[in-house]
Amino acid sequence: MVTGANLVDGQWVPSTTGRTFRSVDPADPAQVIGEFPDSTSTDVAAAVDGLEKAAPEWVATPPERRARILERAADALEADAERLVAELVREEGKSRAEATMEVSRTPMNLRFYAGEAVRSGGSTYPAAGQTMVCTVREPVGIVGAITPWNFPLNIPSRKLGPALAAGNVVLFKPSEVTPLMGQRLVEALLAGGLPPTAIALVQGGAAAGTAVVADERVAAVTFTGSTDVGAAIHGAVGPQRRTQLEMGGKNPTVVLDDADIDFAATSIVKGAFGLSGQACTGTSRVVVVDAIHDALVSAVVTKAADLALGSGLETGVTMGPLASAAQLAKYREYVSIGDAEGAVRHQIDVAVPESEGYFAPPVVFTETTPDMRIVREEIFGPVLAFQRARDFDDAVRIANDTRFGMSAAIITADLGRAMAFGAASKTGLVKVNQPTTGMAMNAPFGGYKASSTQISKEQAGPSMMQFYQAEKTIYL
Ligand code: NAD
Repeated sequence: MVTGANLVDGQWVPSTTGRTFRSVDPADPAQVIGEFPDSTSTDVAAAVDGLEKAAPEWVATPPERRARILERAADALEADAERLVAELVREEGKSRAEATMEVSRTPMNLRFYAGEAVRSGGSTYPAAGQTMVCTVREPVGIVGAITPWNFPLNIPSRKLGPALAAGNVVLFKPSEVTPLMGQRLVEALLAGGLPPTAIALVQGGAAAGTAVVADERVAAVTFTGSTDVGAAIHGAVGPQRRTQLEMGGKNPTVVLDDADIDFAATSIVKGAFGLSGQACTGTSRVVVVDAIHDALVSAVVTKAADLALGSGLETGVTMGPLASAAQLAKYREYVSIGDAEGAVRHQIDVAVPESEGYFAPPVVFTETTPDMRIVREEIFGPVLAFQRARDFDDAVRIANDTRFGMSAAIITADLGRAMAFGAASKTGLVKVNQPTTGMAMNAPFGGYKASSTQISKEQAGPSMMQFYQAEKTIYL
């Protein structure tokens, strides 16, 4: 078992109250992964005090050196990949293949942002009566990063990387479900040469997160998590400070009558049940034209039965447990809600390990109606709702009939209709003939509507660094 600590003012310390919480293996919750400080507003305030002191030195650090530190942190993660994969499988419950993918992506992100450290420049403008008018970009100050458990290395790397590259100091509050992964990322940054005062790690849950947001000295809060918490953070931050919010989804895959049913089913099973349904881009609705509805349901149910549930440490396992007892309770609640709402539940014939692990077999509901909660609310588990459509236009309308706007996919052989769907979809990501999940690490990432704040997309693209930099106009 790991004894974790906060990083405050360059020192690894327990919480001031001495209180702790534990992370456990969701495949076998009796196995404790680690014990971590349960931070309060006092711990957060001390962390912010330290960051305030450290900020001038980090701002003055040459961009080339900031870049080098991020590159060396990437090297450290790669050197430690084997241990990280095993720990990620054990702490979050991913399959080994999913964990390997995340562990390999994270250093790629840090290298990508290392480039931004030296690339970010300003502009010049012709102006009457002036020798020159130019803009410079400068760090915003202290960035608060609050992250979820479902990509506990990758998502924080997409926040800490650009924030540090731009010269900000960072207050990092990882998910209480995966605190070890948060600590490992910070350790890699320190191994890369990051001054330990330039980043603070505060472990804990909602209380610690609330304190990060409440501290007015935190100039920008970048958050990934549920829409409800994101909305609360947005309200608490107020107009003087910045927020970047990446939130929930209810992502549809539209299947048209010219689709190859087998291909569509493979794509849907991957999107819906990969990561045990716990991806913000996960497929949670299938909008299918009547003509092929029954054939597609049958193909999805058959293919889902090939999933092998178990601990990701076991060979051959393709679907790990849910990440926490709370996730399992939510999954069970929504399965009951679907039953009570009158949807038809299809049995997926997978073996569920006989253990105390948080294992959740895939569930497919059909004969849903648009007002059902299983159709409207994010479940964040392996529960898939089918919706019938009359034709293409009806399918587009149904796909867009949601408060969320993260990702949407279409499966069709008709390029014209695929492009028409791309134009009509009210989502930040549109996938053609592929699952709603999966993303390019060098392309803009973010949703529409209740899934994201619209400005400054995360991950990459022209607006990415804007969140972490203030722009000043200088007249000469
Ligand atoms: P969550 O909203 O419960 O928690 C996210 C983080 O916020 C955690 O670190 C948590 O401790 C903290 N937190 C909780 N309450 C807080 C408060 N009142 N103030 C400040 N911080 C608070 O989400 P989760 O269960 O960790 O993650 C699952 C959610 O994340 C899903 O809704 C999923 O769609 C979303 N998600 C979105 C994206 C995206 O890019 N859009 C990516 C991954 C996950």
